[in-house]
Amino acid sequence: MATTTSGIEHNVSSDTRKLLIGGEWLEASSGKTFETIDPATGDLLAMVAEGGSEDVDRAVKAARTALEDGPWSTMNPSERGRVIHRIGDLIMENAEELATLETLDNGKPFGVALAADVALAADLFWYMSGWATKIHGSVINPSVPYMPGAEFHAYTTREPVGVVGQIIPWNFPLLMAAWKLGPALATGCTVVLKPAEQTPLSALRLGEIMLEAGLPPGVVNVITGFGDAGAALAQHEGVDKVAFTGSTEVGKLIVNAASGNLKRVSLELGGKSPNVVFSDADIDAAIAGAASGIFFNQGQVCSAGSRLYVQADQFDRVIEGVCEAASNIKLGHGMDPETEMGPLVSQEQFDRVAGYLQTGIDEGNRAAVGGNALDGPGFFVEPTVLVDADASHAIVREEIFGPVIAAMPFDDIDDLARQANDSHYGLAAGVWTRDISKAHQLANKIKAGTVHVNAYHVFSAELPFGGFKQSGWGREMGEEVLSNYLETKTVIVGL
Ligand code: NAP
Ligand code: MG
Repeated sequence: MATTTSGIEHNVSSDTRKLLIGGEWLEASSGKTFETIDPATGDLLAMVAEGGSEDVDRAVKAARTALEDGPWSTMNPSERGRVIHRIGDLIMENAEELATLETLDNGKPFGVALAADVALAADLFWYMSGWATKIHGSVINPSVPYMPGAEFHAYTTREPVGVVGQIIPWNFPLLMAAWKLGPALATGCTVVLKPAEQTPLSALRLGEIMLEAGLPPGVVNVITGFGDAGAALAQHEGVDKVAFTGSTEVGKLIVNAASGNLKRVSLELGGKSPNVVFSDADIDAAIAGAASGIFFNQGQVCSAGSRLYVQADQFDRVIEGVCEAASNIKLGHGMDPETEMGPLVSQEQFDRVAGYLQTGIDEGNRAAVGGNALDGPGFFVEPTVLVDADASHAIVREEIFGPVIAAMPFDDIDDLARQANDSHYGLAAGVWTRDISKAHQLANKIKAGTVHVNAYHVFSAELPFGGFKQSGWGREMGEEVLSNYLETKTVIVGL
């Protein structure tokens, strides 16, 4: 077992990581590398190949060859499904190692990485493996009114969209890779994956696992690097579709970059999700749900419940409860079993969240608990509840992506629905009430891709996930994600 500084023991290799192109591990053509660090200590974990546009080009060619020349495209759906299933199996066989990589690279607690990130990633591959054998078109009887008496046999087929570029963020590095790769593989596509610069290690390990599972060379290529590599992928003429998860700002750049060859685009972007507590709720459950809705994963969750609306007569009680939950959270290194919340992922993210804390105070909000970005080492921010928030404030309108919740009272369901929908985003929402009809009324009114009732942060491979409005295009997971990776062909035979 190797040891890093700061007293944290782990067995993660410090060897320089390479790019996965065409089944081989290669240096970047520029020869350049970059650092990936442990955000809890600032220590160097490993150097990683810095892929650029030349490497993206090589990877796209490898993905094209794998798509067109086989064996991927000539394997039958059952064989493809079994490879995908084996990826899930191997993720679980290597669960502790993957969770360690995730904790060290991202900062999240090891227990969370193991129980959530790794387990969900394996389950996503298992779920998607079953779809490989269930993708089919339909037989349709056409009327063709201007050709009376003519008879036709018509049917549709569903074909892989082709070579897919996938660009993912750093908040759930392995899981976001799984969400993207699972459906692309189930539909028979080939992929060039660009992980986030902050957290490249688990995607590279997944690359090894996929080869071990029997995925043919070139079916998945992994290009680590910065935003320029992502941009090269999004604009590449040899890419048929780009799937992106990250900020709404970069999502818009992806749309522009994709316009050159009108490649298909799906986007899973930011959010500013309302979590709503009615007076008639199980208040203790609502308090726990409001706290975990924002503090899970250090608040770095696109669907975090970052706007808390509490019916006025229970406002003080709920805020007190969420504040108490926040002050009990133990911050620390993710490998320490006592730790409940790790650091933010990077200096940049730390500065961004610290900036919002300052803006919040400047705009007249008050921290009922927390409010501080802590001195290093590590990028730790206190779990924070901001009150006296107004709908016009930046902390209510903009995605902070940190453990910071803005809390506001409301009077009735109409007032609440208007406030909840007063956002460019529409990713998720939570509703806490014992009144079943109120719950359904609000679920109907809220413009969001996911509405939780008496629950929050429920993710499962079967459930579609994605956004209304500027939270994105298309859905991840469930049957619905398959359409992101399929083209429909209509075949008409005159009889
Ligand atoms: P980001 O810039 O959107 O990064 C997401 C991915 O896009 C990364 O792989 C990134 O590469 C890549 N990228 C950056 N510029 C690109 C470009 N011009 N073309 C193609 N790809 C590009 O997000 P961030 O800067 O890491 O985080 C900023 C904010 O985004 C956060 O504070 C949060 O509000 C939001 N965010 C949302 C999600 C989500 O799940 N919806 C996830 C992460 C962040 P590099 O990282 O290597 O530069
Ligand atoms: Mg890192």
